Amino acid sequence: MITIKSPREIETMAAAGRIVAETLALVASQVRPGVSTEQLDRAAEDFIRSHPGARPSFKGLYDFPATLCTSINQEVVHGIPSARRVLKVGDLLSVDVGVWLDGLHADSAATFPVGKVSSQAERLLTVTQEALAAGVAQARSGNHVGDIGHAVQEVAEGAGYSVVRELVGHGIGSAFHEDPQVPNYGKPKRGPRLMPGMTLAIEPMVNAGGADIRTLEDKWTVVTEDGSLSAHFEHTVAILDDGGPPRVLTTVD
Ligand code: MG
Ligand code: MG
Repeated sequence: MITIKSPREIETMAAAGRIVAETLALVASQVRPGVSTEQLDRAAEDFIRSHPGARPSFKGLYDFPATLCTSINQEVVHGIPSARRVLKVGDLLSVDVGVWLDGLHADSAATFPVGKVSSQAERLLTVTQEALAAGVAQARSGNHVGDIGHAVQEVAEGAGYSVVRELVGHGIGSAFHEDPQVPNYGKPKRGPRLMPGMTLAIEPMVNAGGADIRTLEDKWTVVTEDGSLSAHFEHTVAILDDGGPPRVLTTVD
């Protein structure tokens, strides 16, 4: 069931989204060679819990053990922070984080270069951000979920990359994962119709190589089957009633 949020619920999600954005900014400021993903996780959890009424969405969700998902290089999503995972120059670090505030969630992700990265890695980051922007731009009342996925897919595949198919974006609200599913591929005018008050997490996962993925023995970390680099960017947005671009909730603006 797709839920429509009230203006007041959307303001609460925007407040959660602001904490999410500030958490990502805090993590970005600490990304450097020699830092472990566990250190980043601890800083993020402390920051989130310093806000009254807020807690990390992921910790305990489906028994996930941490505040952040930290996924390095060929890891696509759902990497578990660890003291043994220490960042090196040239790594790509994807950080995914959710915040629950006063009963509602917000969800965002970004991929950061660790020091100087290859030009191929830089291009993958640029294209994945462009794919997210293209998807967000289609999140308008009157459009359909397929318009979002189609726009993401066009940008990613147009650059010679592939989009992950088994993992998708999602509705979000009082539950972290709500209907509808928001695939990063699709056909225009297909899928559920977008209505004012819907809140969606749009999240392209773009692989430099093939689309295939597999899950490691830790039961969480998803990697590219061919070992190619992967990037992930995500925003939570609210569909507006004017037919225009959505309000991005996971921002400090
Ligand atoms: Mg996320
Ligand atoms: Mg999400």
